[in-house]
Amino acid sequence: MTLVALGWNAQRQAEFVPYAAQGLVPGRIVSEHRTHYRVATETSELSAEISGRLRNDAKLRSDLPGTGDFVAARLAGKEDTVVIEAVLPRSSALIRKAAGEARPQLLAANVDTICIVTALDGDFNIARLERYLALVRTSGAVPVIIANKADLPVDVQAKLDGIHKMAPAIAVHAISARTSGAVDVLEPYFTDNRTVALIGSSGVGKSTLTNLLIGDAVQETQAVRGHDDRGRHTTTHRQLFLRPRGGLIMDTPGMRGLERWDVAEDADADFEDIQALALRCRFSDCQHQSEPGCEVRAAASRGEIAPERIAKYFKLKSAPKPKSRSRKNGAS
Ligand code: GDP
Ligand code: ZN
Repeated sequence: MTLVALGWNAQRQAEFVPYAAQGLVPGRIVSEHRTHYRVATETSELSAEISGRLRNDAKLRSDLPGTGDFVAARLAGKEDTVVIEAVLPRSSALIRKAAGEARPQLLAANVDTICIVTALDGDFNIARLERYLALVRTSGAVPVIIANKADLPVDVQAKLDGIHKMAPAIAVHAISARTSGAVDVLEPYFTDNRTVALIGSSGVGKSTLTNLLIGDAVQETQAVRGHDDRGRHTTTHRQLFLRPRGGLIMDTPGMRGLERWDVAEDADADFEDIQALALRCRFSDCQHQSEPGCEVRAAASRGEIAPERIAKYFKLKSAPKPKSRSRKNGAS
């Protein structure tokens, strides 16, 4: 693995000069975990933690390193752990200020192109697309709209016309993630080892497209991704994928969860208390149905939330999809 393959370039090299003088090594964060990071360097992928000074200097949570960041790291005594001492300036930063949560969250750093994926089937929704576009425009990454499932018997042209009317200056590609031709359409966005991220609501085809774009990196994807019994792949480890054909794909859990925040935005502000409770549920993707450690149901059973409001909230959040569960806390 070379730094250039990870997206390193002349500008980053120039920015790194003072850190090189301090004996630090350059790397890129490929995944983020609760207690540590994984950083790819010129020679290997290492476990990393943040220096105390970097943590203290961060005014906002989004100032802390995140997936996609280029960092200056100090090789620690233990040979496979490094300490992140500095974050290089970001060429883009997708930051989400989630409803019910005061601290802005960095979803992805240094992404060149963000593909907003929508499906041309019954879920097609211009207003939702516009909200994703507004979010991406704040990031500094170039937005591209992918109109997926063009193979279905739907009026593709009418929907594309609607997208062009809403966003005349944005590139739009009608594709089918079920055909290999989709790769050719998107290949130019990966030239010069650029980084591409896919965002969009659940079910639009992001996983299918990601698998297609990662292509024959089967070894790597199998090593780092688990498949649950529904065949949906779940990001278990790596969030930044190096493509064998060049370029990188960013797939962070934060980006996948965006549709849930969208619902929260659509909801009346008076659901913020429920949103806040939901953040404390044991499982980060709790559907508040029968999961253990569900704070929403616990508050409801204590009579702290009116049953009508709970019902309305569930309705807004409806069509819960079973997903793999990720543990947030220990047993309660
Ligand atoms: P994600 O939730 O955005 O990751 O969506 P998935 O990749 O899991 O896809 C959701 C469903 O749509 C799956 O059943 C896919 O097989 C299907 N799908 C994805 N892309 C296409 C496509 O281009 N055409 C059709 N007909 N179905 C697709
Ligand atoms: Zn819950």
